[in-house]
Amino acid sequence: MLKYSKQRELIEQAVVSGRAHPSASEVYNSLRPLCPNLSLGTVYRNLTLLSEKGVIQKLHMPDGSDRFDGSTHNHAHALCVSCGKVQDVGALFEPELAETGFVMTGSQLVITGFCESCAEREKIENA
Ligand SMILES: [Zn+2]
Ligand SMILES: [Zn+2]
Repeated sequence: MLKYSKQRELIEQAVVSGRAHPSASEVYNSLRPLCPNLSLGTVYRNLTLLSEKGVIQKLHMPDGSDRFDGSTHNHAHALCVSCGKVQDVGALFEPELAETGFVMTGSQLVITGFCESCAEREKIENA
């Protein structure tokens, strides 16, 4: 049985090492071969704790799922409503906010649409 702190380290690594914005169950599935005693509840608790500490970001998706992001800098996200892929997009509205004097501390901005491969498959084009 792995020690608690070691588990948290592995959970943190699983989110920080990729750009995939995994859900708790994706992290859980990727770590199961390494720690068979791990439970989904433990993964979710640790991910939430890490996001509260500001190590990672918890993202609330319009489809109701939570995703986790190893990058905590200011950026927005694009969610593919077909395959669920989450991509980073640049920091939006930064010049506009600077102009108004608004001090940004975070964002939960998620743009929904279709990723490149889904759009191609579904023959969807930008309006
Ligand atoms: Zn897609
Ligand atoms: Zn991101």
